Amino acid sequence: MPESDFDKLKVAALAGGVGGARLADGLARLLLPENLTVIVNTGDDFIHLGLNISPDLDTVCYTLSGLANPATGWGRSGETFSALESIGELGGPTWFRLGDRDLGLHLERTRRLRQGQTLSQVTRDFCRQWGVRPAVVPMSDDSVPTWVYTDEGELPFQEYFVHRMCRPRVSGFRFAEVEHAAPAPGVLSALQSAHLVVICPSNPWVSVDPILAVPGIRSSLQIASHSGKSPVIAVSPIIAGQTVKGPAAKMFAELGIEPSALAVARHYGSLLSGFVLDQTDASQADAIESLGMRTLVTDTLMRTPDDRRRLAGEVLAFGAQAF
Ligand code: GDP
Ligand code: CA
Repeated sequence: MPESDFDKLKVAALAGGVGGARLADGLARLLLPENLTVIVNTGDDFIHLGLNISPDLDTVCYTLSGLANPATGWGRSGETFSALESIGELGGPTWFRLGDRDLGLHLERTRRLRQGQTLSQVTRDFCRQWGVRPAVVPMSDDSVPTWVYTDEGELPFQEYFVHRMCRPRVSGFRFAEVEHAAPAPGVLSALQSAHLVVICPSNPWVSVDPILAVPGIRSSLQIASHSGKSPVIAVSPIIAGQTVKGPAAKMFAELGIEPSALAVARHYGSLLSGFVLDQTDASQADAIESLGMRTLVTDTLMRTPDDRRRLAGEVLAFGAQAF
């Protein structure tokens, strides 16, 4: 498919933080901004130092605005940590790394939320200020905190992920109050009007599952996929049995499932029309196709902005084929 044909494609992408932001950035480089909606996990959100922090939303927005730190994938480039040092001098918590400029964002978001604005309103306005033109939408304006069941008890997500550095063994997850949460404005309409839904290479357990658990989202994807109207394509975050970053492979293993591209494809199962796996995992393609989905085997590692754009182009061309 020539790249000019991408101008007609409307896409909704589901994303967590770093892996999700990378592919979302590739999609943003190819699609018209009005044709891309990125629906972002907010299960990681928490209140810390009295501030409302939305790590995955911020990673996606910093990435799309060009403000992200390329070395870490999260936080801002050229960041300083004077405020955090000062908190540490006073004996306060420093385990969650917050840069000075990043803190400014959290202060302003917290102020607006306390005034009664919703998270999606605040996010939309920040994106406008930063010149981010695709729609970046939280999965919900309601709080749906992820809890991790571990051999050391049930831990709030950031306590497990950052403070305990994913060391405890996981046995399951809980998305608190999700049954009472509503999709944020724009989420269901983006899924219903999309020609293609892309599940980015984010952590299936704690980045994508919380999004799918919000009432109405999984069923919209199911309808899209089964009607053939808009294929749902996932990109594997697992390459050669490992993650590029983060605990997804460790989580699969601790839950008794061998981590692999096939395991990710099975995890999403009948939701998917197609699956993109890395060339190093090509031998798994037949087994994945036997689950009832098409496959695309390619280089899925996004080291550079050019890689993001190339992979996004391949995903779009694959998804846009008649299914
Ligand atoms: P987090 O919220 O920051 O943990 O980020 P996500 O859940 O969005 O992404 C984490 C996942 O992204 C991990 O499982 C990584 O393996 C995956 N990931 C990161 N970079 C890449 C990449 O370049 N290619 C692929 N295929 N996966 C990636
Ligand atoms: Ca995250």
